[in-house]
Amino acid sequence: MTLTNSRRRVLKALAAAPASLICHPLWAREPVWDVLVLGAGLAGLNAALTLEQFGLRVRVIEASDRVGGRLYSLDDLPGHPEAGGNSIVPGYARTMDVAHRLGLTLQRSQSPLMADESRMLYYVAGRRMSREEWGRAPENALPQPLRGMSPDRALGRILGPSPLKNIGAWRDAANFAYDVPVDGELLARGIDDKARRLMEVNNSYGDTLADTSLLNLYYIQTNLVELMKIPGPVQNFAGGNQRLPEAMAKGLQGGVLLGQRAVSVTERGTEVLVSCADGTTHRARFVVCALPLPAMRHLHFDPPLPSRHAEAVQMLAYARVTQLHLEVKTPFWEGERLSPWIWSDGPLERVFPHDPSGLGRADTLTVWINGAETDSWDRLTDEEVQRRVDLEFGKIFPASRGQLRVARRVAWHRSPLAGGAWANWRPGQISRYSDAIGRSHGRIHFAGEHTTKTFRGMEAAMESGERAASEILARM
Ligand SMILES: Cc1cc2nc3c(=O)[nH]c(=O)nc-3n(C[C@H](O)[C@H](O)[C@H](O)COP(=O)(O)OP(=O)(O)OC[C@H]3O[C@@H](n4cnc5c(N)ncnc54)[C@H](O)[C@@H]3O)c2cc1C
Repeated sequence: MTLTNSRRRVLKALAAAPASLICHPLWAREPVWDVLVLGAGLAGLNAALTLEQFGLRVRVIEASDRVGGRLYSLDDLPGHPEAGGNSIVPGYARTMDVAHRLGLTLQRSQSPLMADESRMLYYVAGRRMSREEWGRAPENALPQPLRGMSPDRALGRILGPSPLKNIGAWRDAANFAYDVPVDGELLARGIDDKARRLMEVNNSYGDTLADTSLLNLYYIQTNLVELMKIPGPVQNFAGGNQRLPEAMAKGLQGGVLLGQRAVSVTERGTEVLVSCADGTTHRARFVVCALPLPAMRHLHFDPPLPSRHAEAVQMLAYARVTQLHLEVKTPFWEGERLSPWIWSDGPLERVFPHDPSGLGRADTLTVWINGAETDSWDRLTDEEVQRRVDLEFGKIFPASRGQLRVARRVAWHRSPLAGGAWANWRPGQISRYSDAIGRSHGRIHFAGEHTTKTFRGMEAAMESGERAASEILARM
């Protein structure tokens, strides 16, 4: 493509750009930016903000028509329920710091009534039970002292305190002996088949216990312990978590270019050229690639990534998560002593009430389905999903009939821009890929939650953006 053609396309794209484009005056003259950041999730935005703080000229390129990526508040539903990143804790130092600087407020994410575990409901083997009943139920195959808890919690307790000495130790070769299937470890500790199958239901870190890494679970435990050192409630941003990336994007001078899907990154001499699906091109001295790996699988690198890094991009597993967001017409559970906070081994898997008002009444419920069970929902039409929701809820709460509307369905693993909810390191993958995955390649630096060295979740994304920015600053 000639430069003139490219400019014409760029100007055409600018004319067609959404109103939310925060435009830089230099853009029409196609400057060579100091840094192009690919992806306007927390990682990309934090990299951009950090680089601008040090006086660099930065442009962010985002494929979607909104910023935030896996932070996604459903603004058209009452109370802005979260389809993506949800819980924020005081230990999220970077997230908190940026939020305070941008003037955002946090609020408790759940009323004490809705978060009251004694009102949680179990629905196992087609039987509805209170937590107490679950503790005594014949279907409950968990080891004796742990029978009063949900199987996923029991799994954490069986594994005991993490042997990792600090939050960064999951990447130390000395701990790679733990990078094995957790199923084998449980078997070695005498946990029988029935108990292990229960722990497999609603597992967020692998489709089966055989493809869940013990080291990854120890890393998750260590992360929790580290976060709990700073006490305080679990919170959300007032008006929805997506307000954070929106405020970050607004705070950028170079702006975010929405609706531009990067397809190739080419390094030549002292410049990097990024081409987008609509034919536009952008140039910079450095690039921060802050895309989830499934999205990166469609990005062409010239020169190609080193073989271990390229293999990691193809192979790293991502969590399959389908959510159904239900609008509640009347709170059908009121008058019962159990809340609609459900743990089940049936098709609804887990249900979480959403009560941002703190008044103890949920306007929406989130059905959260993990792993293989997502298929059984994903293949249905919207009408079939509604019918199945009515049927399955009716079995648990007969009074729910006609009281629930499936307002939204979000399947993260089916989104081409995410490819899953989070990186789910399979057994052997931390040992093989954790070092290669965030390593810079020429003038290209990598960010994104999967490249974190310490924390997980939103804080991981923030940390990775800061790290990628500091790598570039060190080269200036
Ligand atoms: C269901 C769910 C629940 C979660 N719960 C929590 C929680 O409670 N607490 C917590 O801390 N974390 C949670 N997380 C994780 C947290 O949301 C993520 O770790 C974090 O938001 C990831 O940020 P990121 O910047 O690394 O990636 P992303 O947010 O995915 O950003 C990547 C961006 O790149 C864009 N992109 C993709 N391809 C291209 C391309 N070719 N060109 C240009 N742009 C492209 C995407 O559109 C996206 O905007 C949850 C996530 C999910 C999905």
